Amino acid sequence: MDQKRTEIAQLGEFGLIDRIKSNFSLQNPTSLKGIGDDAAVIDIGTENVLISTDMMLEGIHFDLAYMPLQHLGYKAVAINVSDIAAMNGKPEQIIIGLGLSNRFSLEAVDMLYEGINAACKNYKVDLVGGDTTSSSSGLVISITIIGRAAKEKTVLRSGAKNNDIICVTGDLGAAFLGLQILEREKQVYQANPQMQPDLEKYEYLVGRQLKPEARMDIVYELAEKNIVPTSMIDISDGLASELLHLGKNSNTGSKIFEDKIPIDALAYDTAIEFKIDPTTTALNGGEDYELLFTIKASDFEPLKNHPDIHFIGHMHDNVNQNVMISKQGTVVPIQAQGWKHF
Ligand code: ADP
Ligand code: MG
Repeated sequence: MDQKRTEIAQLGEFGLIDRIKSNFSLQNPTSLKGIGDDAAVIDIGTENVLISTDMMLEGIHFDLAYMPLQHLGYKAVAINVSDIAAMNGKPEQIIIGLGLSNRFSLEAVDMLYEGINAACKNYKVDLVGGDTTSSSSGLVISITIIGRAAKEKTVLRSGAKNNDIICVTGDLGAAFLGLQILEREKQVYQANPQMQPDLEKYEYLVGRQLKPEARMDIVYELAEKNIVPTSMIDISDGLASELLHLGKNSNTGSKIFEDKIPIDALAYDTAIEFKIDPTTTALNGGEDYELLFTIKASDFEPLKNHPDIHFIGHMHDNVNQNVMISKQGTVVPIQAQGWKHF
């Protein structure tokens, strides 16, 4: 009998998730939003509970040759908080699943949890449980986060409308370039262990890779100004991929302007040094954990002078038409990569 075999890479990460989703229907009226957003949305009556999970595997998401364990613990929490921020919610509890190989000592676990604790304090989340097992394939950290949001303030990927303004926080591409620097220095060190890594000049980029922050500050500032984005997502895979998610889920197209994409000066120069187009690092680099969101045109005024929110374009009615106007004025279709890990 012929057994059909399809490679996962053929579907890609998002194709695979779509396929899983298509085989399930929600059975409980309390499940307001299931698969397909940054967090699930659960109806608890007066408010919504938000739940999300993110796993980090040694050798795939991090390399202990350059990732200090404290930073790893901090990052594992921060990337989960970022998914709650992307729903415009407030994080409250985390549960940690840990797979440890016998290479790890108690002191190593202590360092990991030092970083987890620092993030818990910073984002005011409580560690309320978890599970511990041994692992034969390196370190595994899986964190589930629980948050909450008022019903009318819960922001999905699907609410953007024609003419809404596309906003992005911070700057993009730096985390990817930080990773390139770390990889380069690792290779230099392996070739010649006497060589000390020269990371000082690239401190900002390396910091963006090793110790990202979730943009809860933006969530709180928007709340203060009484602004609720019409749609939102956090930038874990790169601006291009996230923009396509907003467009697809909102049934809109998008138009952004290359010269409006925020790129840090050092990131720009370093991309050139690596012979990579700086815009590509922003579009496809990933791991910046900034927020990408849309606002109604009427909410532009109170945000227009914000030092850390950039207005890069707008949504429009031509569904599936997602384009970037380049610095030369040409129209470039926006394409996602999105299947890196397969
Ligand atoms: P994010 O980058 O915001 O963490 P993902 O791209 O990982 O989001 O996931 C997108 C959606 O797919 C989320 O709703 C997530 O819960 C869901 N998802 C991802 N993997 C699976 C899986 N193996 N089974 C069911 N749902 C999944
Ligand atoms: Mg996300």
